[in-house]
Amino acid sequence: MATIAANLYQLHHRIDAACTAASRPVQSVTLMVVSKTFPGDAVREAHAAGEHRFGENYVQEGLDKIAELADLRSSLEWHLIGPLQSNKSRGVAEAFDWVHSVDRLKLAQRLSEQRPASLPPMQVCLQVNISGEASKSGVVPADLPELARAVASLPRLQLRGLMAIPAPAEGEQAQRLPHRALAELMARTNRQLGLSMDTLSMGMSADMEAAILEGATMVRVGSAIFGSRPRP
Ligand SMILES: *Cc1c(COP(=O)(O)O)cnc(C)c1O
Repeated sequence: MATIAANLYQLHHRIDAACTAASRPVQSVTLMVVSKTFPGDAVREAHAAGEHRFGENYVQEGLDKIAELADLRSSLEWHLIGPLQSNKSRGVAEAFDWVHSVDRLKLAQRLSEQRPASLPPMQVCLQVNISGEASKSGVVPADLPELARAVASLPRLQLRGLMAIPAPAEGEQAQRLPHRALAELMARTNRQLGLSMDTLSMGMSADMEAAILEGATMVRVGSAIFGSRPRP
């Protein structure tokens, strides 16, 4: 289990090096540790090594893990990064701090209505289908402004930025293109609508450097920390 701390140590070196290469301050990139499919004890291990921000893909698994780790709740930030069906929104609204996978207004409205008054507003990223893959979830770029405008007006949500999962690509140059497109889309949408989205949720174990070069502010990393996941 000491390998989790060692992997995190190496990963932070990768992040530091990528920030240096991009002429960006190291504090401008935050790490989200993606703990999907890994047990609560793995989260405890990463937390003991200094991590506070964790991402889950599957709603029920995430809710179970949040409950299991209730003793650490005040020092953890939980992010939902996987698809969310509207009929499962209530549990998410009550338990998570961030949702990165909002891609339609109806879901955003439900999260806003269901967010308990005792909690701060839900922090939200809009998921964009940046590679134009028919099978992928996410709003298409042309529809983003309308969705962003509507979500920004919901009372119990705070619109923080954009999230994407680009199609896998080989080589840094090819990997940079969709990340650049997402960064430009956020800048343009902010300008057009007078918004101040500040979060670019992009970059995973395999394309983290490319994402940081293009302005990622939150990288989502799982396998480089915990090892490879069993295939579902
Ligand atoms: C699993 C997952 C990650 C982490 O991927 P790794 O390749 O394990 O780093 C990041 N983002 C999303 C949306 C994921 O589902």
